[in-house]
Amino acid sequence: MSKPGLHPAQGGPADGASVDPEIFQLIRAEERRQHEKLRLIPSENYATQAVMQACGSVLNNKYSEGYAGKRYYEGQQEIDKIETLAIERLKSLFGVDHANVQPYSGSPANLGVYFAFCKPGDPVLGMGLPSGGHLTHGWKVSISGSYFNALQYGVRKEDHRIDFDEVARLAREHRPKLLFCGATAYPRVIDFPKFAEIAKEVGAILVADIAHISGLVAGGAHPSPVGFAEVISSTTHKTLRGPRGGMILCNREHQKAIDKSVFPGLQGGPHNGTTAGIAIAAKLAATDEFKAYAHAIVDNARALAETLLGRGFSLVTGGTDNHLVLCDLTPQKVPGKVAARALDRAGIVMNYNSVPFDTRKPFDPSGIRLGTPALTSRGMGPAEMKRVGDWIADVVEHVEDDARLDRIAGEVRSLCDDFPAPGVPLES
Ligand SMILES: *Cc1c(COP(=O)(O)O)cnc(C)c1O
Repeated sequence: MSKPGLHPAQGGPADGASVDPEIFQLIRAEERRQHEKLRLIPSENYATQAVMQACGSVLNNKYSEGYAGKRYYEGQQEIDKIETLAIERLKSLFGVDHANVQPYSGSPANLGVYFAFCKPGDPVLGMGLPSGGHLTHGWKVSISGSYFNALQYGVRKEDHRIDFDEVARLAREHRPKLLFCGATAYPRVIDFPKFAEIAKEVGAILVADIAHISGLVAGGAHPSPVGFAEVISSTTHKTLRGPRGGMILCNREHQKAIDKSVFPGLQGGPHNGTTAGIAIAAKLAATDEFKAYAHAIVDNARALAETLLGRGFSLVTGGTDNHLVLCDLTPQKVPGKVAARALDRAGIVMNYNSVPFDTRKPFDPSGIRLGTPALTSRGMGPAEMKRVGDWIADVVEHVEDDARLDRIAGEVRSLCDDFPAPGVPLES
Protein backbone atom coordinates (compact mmCIF):
# COMPACT_ATOMS: atom_id res chain seq x y z
CA MET A 1 0.00 0.00 0.00
CA SER A 2 2.98 2.35 -0.08
CA LYS A 3 4.44 4.10 -3.10
CA PRO A 4 6.83 1.77 -4.88
CA GLY A 5 10.38 3.02 -5.34
CA LEU A 6 10.55 4.80 -2.01
CA HIS A 7 12.92 3.49 0.66
CA PRO A 8 11.15 2.20 3.82
CA ALA A 9 12.70 5.10 5.76
CA GLN A 10 10.95 7.48 3.35
CA GLY A 11 7.60 5.71 3.68
CA GLY A 12 8.14 3.01 1.06
CA PRO A 13 7.09 -0.66 1.30
CA ALA A 14 8.34 -1.98 4.61
CA ASP A 15 7.54 -5.60 5.34
CA GLY A 16 8.88 -6.34 8.83
CA ALA A 17 10.91 -9.42 8.00
CA SER A 18 12.74 -7.71 5.11
CA VAL A 19 13.18 -4.29 6.73
CA ASP A 20 14.43 -5.58 10.05
CA PRO A 21 15.16 -9.31 10.01
CA GLU A 22 16.98 -9.00 13.34
CA ILE A 23 13.90 -7.80 15.22
CA PHE A 24 11.47 -9.99 13.31
CA GLN A 25 13.46 -13.14 13.97
CA LEU A 26 13.30 -12.28 17.65
CA ILE A 27 9.53 -11.82 17.44
CA ARG A 28 9.23 -15.23 15.68
CA ALA A 29 11.31 -16.74 18.48
CA GLU A 30 9.07 -15.14 21.10
CA GLU A 31 6.02 -16.57 19.31
CA ARG A 32 7.60 -20.02 19.57
CA ARG A 33 8.43 -19.49 23.25
CA GLN A 34 4.86 -18.42 23.99
CA HIS A 35 3.62 -21.54 22.19
CA GLU A 36 5.91 -24.17 23.64
CA LYS A 37 6.19 -23.09 27.26
CA LEU A 38 3.69 -23.20 30.09
CA ARG A 39 3.24 -19.57 31.08
CA LEU A 40 2.33 -19.39 34.75
CA ILE A 41 3.15 -15.76 35.54
CA PRO A 42 -0.20 -14.73 37.06
CA SER A 43 -0.16 -11.22 35.58
CA GLU A 44 0.32 -12.57 32.05
CA ASN A 45 -2.14 -13.94 29.56
CA TYR A 46 -2.79 -14.41 25.85
CA ALA A 47 -4.79 -11.51 24.43
CA THR A 48 -7.30 -12.61 21.82
CA GLN A 49 -6.38 -12.31 18.17
CA ALA A 50 -8.96 -9.54 17.66
CA VAL A 51 -7.29 -7.48 20.38
CA MET A 52 -3.88 -8.01 18.77
CA GLN A 53 -5.28 -6.85 15.42
CA ALA A 54 -6.66 -3.65 16.97
CA CYS A 55 -3.30 -2.91 18.63
CA GLY A 56 -1.42 -3.31 15.37
CA SER A 57 -3.85 -1.20 13.35
CA VAL A 58 -3.82 2.33 11.84
CA LEU A 59 -5.24 3.60 15.12
CA ASN A 60 -1.57 3.83 16.09
CA ASN A 61 -1.26 6.82 13.76
CA LYS A 62 -3.89 9.10 15.29
CA TYR A 63 -3.54 11.79 17.93
CA SER A 64 -6.63 12.46 20.06
CA GLU A 65 -5.79 14.49 23.15
CA GLY A 66 -8.96 15.21 25.09
CA TYR A 67 -12.18 13.22 25.33
CA ALA A 68 -14.90 12.35 22.80
CA GLY A 69 -16.56 15.55 21.58
CA LYS A 70 -13.87 17.74 23.23
CA ARG A 71 -10.62 16.98 21.41
CA TYR A 72 -7.65 19.19 20.71
CA TYR A 73 -7.13 17.77 17.21
CA GLU A 74 -9.44 17.33 14.22
CA GLY A 75 -10.19 14.06 12.47
CA GLN A 76 -11.75 12.25 15.42
CA GLN A 77 -14.81 10.92 13.53
CA GLU A 78 -13.92 7.27 14.11
CA ILE A 79 -11.81 7.62 17.26
CA ASP A 80 -14.62 9.26 19.23
CA LYS A 81 -16.89 6.34 18.36
CA ILE A 82 -14.25 3.80 19.35
CA GLU A 83 -13.50 5.42 22.70
CA THR A 84 -17.22 5.84 23.44
CA LEU A 85 -17.82 2.15 22.69
CA ALA A 86 -14.99 1.16 25.05
CA ILE A 87 -16.40 3.37 27.81
CA GLU A 88 -20.03 2.29 27.39
CA ARG A 89 -19.11 -1.40 27.29
CA LEU A 90 -17.03 -1.13 30.47
CA LYS A 91 -19.80 0.81 32.23
CA SER A 92 -22.26 -1.93 31.44
CA LEU A 93 -19.81 -4.78 32.13
CA PHE A 94 -18.92 -3.57 35.62
CA GLY A 95 -22.10 -1.61 36.42
CA VAL A 96 -20.39 1.74 37.05
CA ASP A 97 -21.24 5.37 36.22
CA HIS A 98 -18.02 6.22 34.45
CA ALA A 99 -14.92 4.71 32.86
CA ASN A 100 -11.69 6.38 31.78
CA VAL A 101 -9.84 4.15 29.30
CA GLN A 102 -6.87 6.39 28.60
CA PRO A 103 -4.27 5.44 31.25
CA TYR A 104 -1.27 3.92 29.48
CA SER A 105 -1.13 1.03 31.93
CA GLY A 106 -1.93 0.00 35.50
CA SER A 107 0.73 2.13 37.19
CA PRO A 108 -0.24 5.35 35.35
CA ALA A 109 -3.89 4.59 36.20
CA ASN A 110 -2.97 4.58 39.89
CA LEU A 111 -0.91 7.73 39.49
CA GLY A 112 -3.99 9.28 37.89
CA VAL A 113 -5.98 8.39 41.00
CA TYR A 114 -3.38 9.97 43.33
CA PHE A 115 -3.20 13.13 41.23
CA ALA A 116 -6.98 13.46 41.22
CA PHE A 117 -7.31 13.49 45.00
CA CYS A 118 -3.95 14.14 46.70
CA LYS A 119 -1.37 16.85 47.18
CA PRO A 120 2.27 15.93 47.81
CA GLY A 121 2.73 14.88 51.43
CA ASP A 122 -0.90 13.81 51.94
CA PRO A 123 -1.39 10.60 53.93
CA VAL A 124 -2.33 7.54 51.87
CA LEU A 125 -2.70 3.94 52.99
CA GLY A 126 -1.99 0.81 50.98
CA MET A 127 -0.77 -2.77 51.27
CA GLY A 128 2.98 -3.23 51.60
CA LEU A 129 4.87 -4.93 48.78
CA PRO A 130 6.21 -7.72 51.04
CA SER A 131 2.62 -8.67 51.91
CA GLY A 132 1.53 -8.80 48.27
CA GLY A 133 0.69 -5.16 47.56
CA HIS A 134 1.83 -3.34 44.41
CA LEU A 135 4.68 -0.84 44.12
CA THR A 136 2.14 1.88 43.34
CA HIS A 137 0.31 1.38 46.64
CA GLY A 138 2.91 3.44 48.49
CA TRP A 139 6.09 1.39 48.40
CA LYS A 140 9.17 3.52 49.11
CA VAL A 141 10.95 3.29 45.74
CA SER A 142 7.78 4.23 43.84
CA ILE A 143 6.59 7.80 43.27
CA SER A 144 3.56 6.80 45.35
CA GLY A 145 5.81 6.16 48.34
CA SER A 146 8.05 9.18 47.93
CA TYR A 147 5.62 12.01 47.02
CA PHE A 148 2.99 11.08 49.59
CA ASN A 149 3.02 10.17 53.24
CA ALA A 150 2.46 6.51 52.47
CA LEU A 151 1.41 4.19 55.28
CA GLN A 152 1.47 0.46 54.70
CA TYR A 153 -0.60 -2.36 56.14
CA GLY A 154 0.24 -6.01 55.83
CA VAL A 155 -0.97 -9.53 56.48
CA ARG A 156 -1.24 -11.34 59.80
CA LYS A 157 1.64 -13.50 60.90
CA GLU A 158 -0.54 -16.46 61.87
CA ASP A 159 -2.54 -16.96 58.68
CA HIS A 160 -1.13 -14.50 56.09
CA ARG A 161 -4.58 -12.94 55.60
CA ILE A 162 -5.00 -9.15 55.42
CA ASP A 163 -4.60 -7.67 58.90
CA PHE A 164 -7.78 -5.60 59.18
CA ASP A 165 -6.94 -4.57 62.74
CA GLU A 166 -3.80 -2.93 61.36
CA VAL A 167 -5.73 -1.35 58.47
CA ALA A 168 -8.23 0.19 60.93
CA ARG A 169 -5.54 1.30 63.37
CA LEU A 170 -3.45 3.05 60.68
CA ALA A 171 -6.55 4.57 59.12
CA ARG A 172 -7.77 6.04 62.42
CA GLU A 173 -4.33 7.31 63.35
CA HIS A 174 -3.40 8.92 60.01
CA ARG A 175 -6.76 9.70 58.35
CA PRO A 176 -5.52 8.90 54.82
CA LYS A 177 -7.01 10.63 51.77
CA LEU A 178 -6.94 7.34 49.87
CA LEU A 179 -7.20 3.78 51.09
CA PHE A 180 -5.93 1.31 48.48
CA CYS A 181 -7.01 -2.31 48.46
CA GLY A 182 -6.23 -4.98 45.91
CA ALA A 183 -2.98 -6.84 45.43
CA THR A 184 -0.46 -8.35 43.14
CA ALA A 185 0.48 -11.45 45.14
CA TYR A 186 -2.44 -12.30 47.42
CA PRO A 187 -4.21 -15.60 46.76
CA ARG A 188 -7.46 -14.84 48.60
CA VAL A 189 -10.67 -12.88 48.07
CA ILE A 190 -10.37 -9.17 48.86
CA ASP A 191 -13.07 -8.22 51.37
CA PHE A 192 -14.26 -4.96 49.79
CA PRO A 193 -17.15 -4.36 52.27
CA LYS A 194 -14.72 -4.53 55.19
CA PHE A 195 -12.35 -2.04 53.55
CA ALA A 196 -15.31 0.23 52.73
CA GLU A 197 -16.41 0.28 56.36
CA ILE A 198 -12.96 1.46 57.47
CA ALA A 199 -12.68 4.02 54.67
CA LYS A 200 -16.09 5.43 55.55
CA GLU A 201 -15.25 5.72 59.23
CA VAL A 202 -12.14 7.85 58.56
CA GLY A 203 -13.43 9.76 55.52
CA ALA A 204 -11.01 8.16 53.04
CA ILE A 205 -11.78 7.40 49.42
CA LEU A 206 -11.56 3.63 48.94
CA VAL A 207 -9.65 2.69 45.80
CA ALA A 208 -9.92 -0.92 44.65
CA ASP A 209 -7.03 -1.83 42.38
CA ILE A 210 -8.31 -4.90 40.55
CA ALA A 211 -5.41 -5.09 38.07
CA HIS A 212 -4.98 -8.84 38.51
CA ILE A 213 -8.58 -9.83 39.04
CA SER A 214 -10.61 -7.55 36.74
CA GLY A 215 -11.40 -10.53 34.50
CA LEU A 216 -12.49 -12.58 37.50
CA VAL A 217 -14.70 -9.71 38.68
CA ALA A 218 -16.19 -9.25 35.19
CA GLY A 219 -16.87 -12.99 34.98
CA GLY A 220 -18.35 -13.25 38.47
CA ALA A 221 -15.50 -15.39 39.83
CA HIS A 222 -14.49 -12.78 42.44
CA PRO A 223 -16.84 -10.39 44.31
CA SER A 224 -17.11 -6.96 42.71
CA PRO A 225 -15.87 -3.81 44.47
CA VAL A 226 -18.67 -1.78 42.83
CA GLY A 227 -20.83 -0.19 45.51
CA PHE A 228 -17.96 -0.37 48.01
CA ALA A 229 -15.01 1.37 46.33
CA GLU A 230 -15.68 4.85 44.96
CA VAL A 231 -12.79 4.46 42.56
CA ILE A 232 -11.60 1.29 40.82
CA SER A 233 -8.33 1.08 38.91
CA SER A 234 -7.11 -1.77 36.77
CA THR A 235 -4.89 -2.98 34.01
CA THR A 236 -6.68 -4.36 30.96
CA HIS A 237 -4.17 -7.06 29.96
CA LYS A 238 -4.16 -9.50 32.88
CA THR A 239 -7.22 -11.71 33.52
CA LEU A 240 -9.34 -9.35 31.37
CA ARG A 241 -7.36 -10.51 28.30
CA GLY A 242 -7.31 -7.10 26.64
CA PRO A 243 -4.44 -5.01 25.32
CA ARG A 244 -1.60 -3.65 27.43
CA GLY A 245 -3.46 -0.76 29.07
CA GLY A 246 -5.17 0.72 32.08
CA MET A 247 -8.56 2.01 33.16
CA ILE A 248 -10.21 3.87 36.00
CA LEU A 249 -13.86 3.26 36.90
CA CYS A 250 -15.72 5.57 39.25
CA ASN A 251 -19.05 6.97 40.31
CA ARG A 252 -20.45 10.16 38.82
CA GLU A 253 -19.17 12.27 41.72
CA HIS A 254 -15.53 11.60 40.83
CA GLN A 255 -15.82 11.55 37.02
CA LYS A 256 -14.57 15.10 36.50
CA ALA A 257 -11.63 14.79 38.89
CA ILE A 258 -10.49 11.50 37.32
CA ASP A 259 -10.79 12.69 33.73
CA LYS A 260 -8.96 15.94 34.45
CA SER A 261 -6.22 14.07 36.25
CA VAL A 262 -5.53 11.60 33.41
CA PHE A 263 -5.70 14.33 30.74
CA PRO A 264 -4.34 16.99 30.84
CA GLY A 265 -2.95 16.19 34.28
CA LEU A 266 -0.82 13.19 33.56
CA GLN A 267 -0.78 12.20 29.91
CA GLY A 268 -0.95 13.48 26.35
CA GLY A 269 -2.63 11.53 23.57
CA PRO A 270 -4.31 8.24 24.37
CA HIS A 271 -3.16 5.06 22.62
CA ASN A 272 -6.14 4.55 20.32
CA GLY A 273 -5.27 1.01 19.24
CA THR A 274 -5.29 0.09 22.91
CA THR A 275 -8.65 1.81 23.36
CA ALA A 276 -10.11 -0.31 20.54
CA GLY A 277 -8.59 -3.42 22.12
CA ILE A 278 -10.21 -2.54 25.45
CA ALA A 279 -13.58 -2.20 23.68
CA ILE A 280 -13.12 -5.67 22.17
CA ALA A 281 -12.06 -7.22 25.48
CA ALA A 282 -15.06 -5.64 27.23
CA LYS A 283 -17.42 -7.03 24.57
CA LEU A 284 -16.02 -10.55 24.97
CA ALA A 285 -15.97 -10.30 28.77
CA ALA A 286 -19.74 -9.72 28.76
CA THR A 287 -20.45 -13.18 27.32
CA ASP A 288 -21.47 -16.33 29.19
CA GLU A 289 -18.39 -18.00 27.70
CA PHE A 290 -16.17 -15.48 29.48
CA LYS A 291 -17.97 -16.21 32.75
CA ALA A 292 -17.11 -19.86 32.25
CA TYR A 293 -13.52 -18.89 31.44
CA ALA A 294 -13.19 -16.78 34.62
CA HIS A 295 -14.49 -19.62 36.77
CA ALA A 296 -12.21 -22.08 34.99
CA ILE A 297 -9.20 -19.91 35.92
CA VAL A 298 -10.11 -20.27 39.60
CA ASP A 299 -10.90 -24.00 39.31
CA ASN A 300 -7.52 -24.50 37.68
CA ALA A 301 -5.70 -22.56 40.39
CA ARG A 302 -7.42 -24.73 43.01
CA ALA A 303 -6.44 -27.91 41.16
CA LEU A 304 -2.85 -26.72 40.91
CA ALA A 305 -2.80 -25.79 44.61
CA GLU A 306 -4.18 -29.20 45.59
CA THR A 307 -1.56 -31.01 43.54
CA LEU A 308 1.23 -28.99 45.13
CA LEU A 309 -0.18 -29.50 48.64
CA GLY A 310 -0.36 -33.22 47.90
CA ARG A 311 3.33 -33.14 47.05
CA GLY A 312 4.16 -31.57 50.41
CA PHE A 313 4.50 -27.96 49.30
CA SER A 314 3.75 -25.05 51.62
CA LEU A 315 1.30 -22.51 50.18
CA VAL A 316 0.82 -19.01 51.57
CA THR A 317 -2.63 -18.97 53.29
CA GLY A 318 -2.81 -22.71 52.61
CA GLY A 319 -4.43 -22.44 49.20
CA THR A 320 -6.20 -20.05 46.84
CA ASP A 321 -9.55 -18.38 46.07
CA ASN A 322 -8.41 -16.71 42.88
CA HIS A 323 -6.07 -17.19 39.91
CA LEU A 324 -2.78 -17.41 41.77
CA VAL A 325 -0.82 -19.59 44.13
CA LEU A 326 2.05 -18.33 46.26
CA CYS A 327 4.40 -21.09 47.24
CA ASP A 328 6.95 -20.88 50.06
CA LEU A 329 9.88 -23.15 49.19
CA THR A 330 11.58 -22.86 52.58
CA PRO A 331 10.73 -26.49 53.51
CA GLN A 332 12.24 -27.66 50.19
CA LYS A 333 15.40 -25.64 50.98
CA VAL A 334 15.38 -24.26 47.42
CA PRO A 335 15.54 -20.46 46.98
CA GLY A 336 12.75 -19.06 44.77
CA LYS A 337 15.21 -17.83 42.17
CA VAL A 338 16.92 -21.19 41.79
CA ALA A 339 13.53 -22.89 41.44
CA ALA A 340 12.25 -20.36 38.91
CA ARG A 341 15.36 -20.76 36.77
CA ALA A 342 15.19 -24.57 36.79
CA LEU A 343 11.47 -24.42 36.01
CA ASP A 344 12.12 -22.14 33.04
CA ARG A 345 14.61 -24.66 31.67
CA ALA A 346 11.88 -27.29 32.03
CA GLY A 347 9.49 -25.09 30.00
CA ILE A 348 7.48 -23.84 32.97
CA VAL A 349 7.70 -20.06 33.33
CA MET A 350 6.85 -18.27 36.56
CA ASN A 351 8.45 -15.70 38.82
CA TYR A 352 10.33 -15.87 42.09
CA ASN A 353 8.52 -13.89 44.74
CA SER A 354 8.76 -12.81 48.35
CA VAL A 355 6.47 -14.56 50.81
CA PRO A 356 5.04 -12.72 53.85
CA PHE A 357 7.68 -12.22 56.56
CA ASP A 358 10.31 -13.52 54.17
CA THR A 359 13.69 -14.01 55.81
CA ARG A 360 15.46 -13.73 52.43
CA LYS A 361 16.04 -10.57 50.36
CA PRO A 362 13.48 -9.36 47.74
CA PHE A 363 15.97 -10.05 44.92
CA ASP A 364 16.56 -13.56 46.25
CA PRO A 365 13.34 -14.51 48.06
CA SER A 366 11.90 -17.76 49.40
CA GLY A 367 8.92 -18.23 47.13
CA ILE A 368 7.52 -18.63 43.67
CA ARG A 369 4.28 -17.14 42.38
CA LEU A 370 2.20 -18.98 39.83
CA GLY A 371 -1.11 -18.35 38.15
CA THR A 372 -3.50 -20.01 35.73
CA PRO A 373 -4.94 -17.28 33.43
CA ALA A 374 -2.71 -18.05 30.42
CA LEU A 375 -3.01 -21.84 30.64
CA THR A 376 -6.78 -21.47 30.96
CA SER A 377 -6.78 -19.32 27.80
CA ARG A 378 -5.27 -22.34 26.00
CA GLY A 379 -8.22 -24.48 27.12
CA MET A 380 -6.35 -26.47 29.75
CA GLY A 381 -8.33 -27.83 32.71
CA PRO A 382 -7.84 -29.56 36.07
CA ALA A 383 -6.38 -32.73 34.49
CA GLU A 384 -3.62 -30.67 32.88
CA MET A 385 -3.10 -28.72 36.15
CA LYS A 386 -2.39 -32.02 37.89
CA ARG A 387 0.33 -32.79 35.35
CA VAL A 388 1.73 -29.25 35.63
CA GLY A 389 1.76 -29.41 39.43
CA ASP A 390 3.60 -32.72 39.37
CA TRP A 391 6.16 -31.35 36.92
CA ILE A 392 6.71 -28.31 39.15
CA ALA A 393 7.25 -30.56 42.17
CA ASP A 394 9.62 -32.83 40.19
CA VAL A 395 11.68 -29.84 39.07
CA VAL A 396 11.89 -28.24 42.52
CA GLU A 397 12.94 -31.59 43.99
CA HIS A 398 15.69 -31.96 41.34
CA VAL A 399 16.79 -28.43 40.42
CA GLU A 400 20.28 -29.57 39.45
CA ASP A 401 19.30 -32.57 37.37
CA ASP A 402 19.58 -31.01 33.89
CA ALA A 403 18.74 -34.23 32.07
CA ARG A 404 15.48 -34.47 33.99
CA LEU A 405 14.67 -30.79 33.38
CA ASP A 406 15.25 -31.24 29.64
CA ARG A 407 13.10 -34.37 29.56
CA ILE A 408 10.27 -32.46 31.28
CA ALA A 409 10.70 -29.60 28.78
CA GLY A 410 10.01 -32.13 26.02
CA GLU A 411 6.87 -33.39 27.75
CA VAL A 412 5.75 -29.78 28.27
CA ARG A 413 6.21 -29.05 24.55
CA SER A 414 4.08 -31.98 23.63
CA LEU A 415 1.27 -30.89 26.00
CA CYS A 416 1.50 -27.38 24.54
CA ASP A 417 1.13 -28.76 21.00
CA ASP A 418 -2.27 -30.11 22.05
CA PHE A 419 -3.40 -26.70 23.36
CA PRO A 420 -2.62 -23.99 20.78
CA ALA A 421 -2.16 -20.54 22.28
CA PRO A 422 -4.71 -17.95 21.14
CA GLY A 423 -3.31 -14.99 19.24
CA VAL A 424 0.06 -16.68 18.70
CA PRO A 425 0.75 -17.36 15.02
CA LEU A 426 2.88 -20.39 14.27
CA GLU A 427 4.80 -21.02 11.07
CA SER A 428 3.67 -24.34 9.62
C1 LIG B 1 0.09 -5.20 37.51
C2 LIG B 1 -0.40 -4.29 38.57
C3 LIG B 1 -0.34 -2.90 38.42
C4 LIG B 1 0.48 -2.20 37.37
O1 LIG B 1 0.27 -2.46 36.10
P1 LIG B 1 1.36 -2.09 34.97
O2 LIG B 1 0.53 -2.24 33.76
O3 LIG B 1 2.44 -3.10 35.11
O4 LIG B 1 1.81 -0.71 35.21
C5 LIG B 1 -0.95 -2.10 39.39
N1 LIG B 1 -1.56 -2.65 40.45
C6 LIG B 1 -1.60 -3.99 40.64
C7 LIG B 1 -2.29 -4.53 41.84
C8 LIG B 1 -1.01 -4.85 39.72
O5 LIG B 1 -1.02 -6.15 39.94
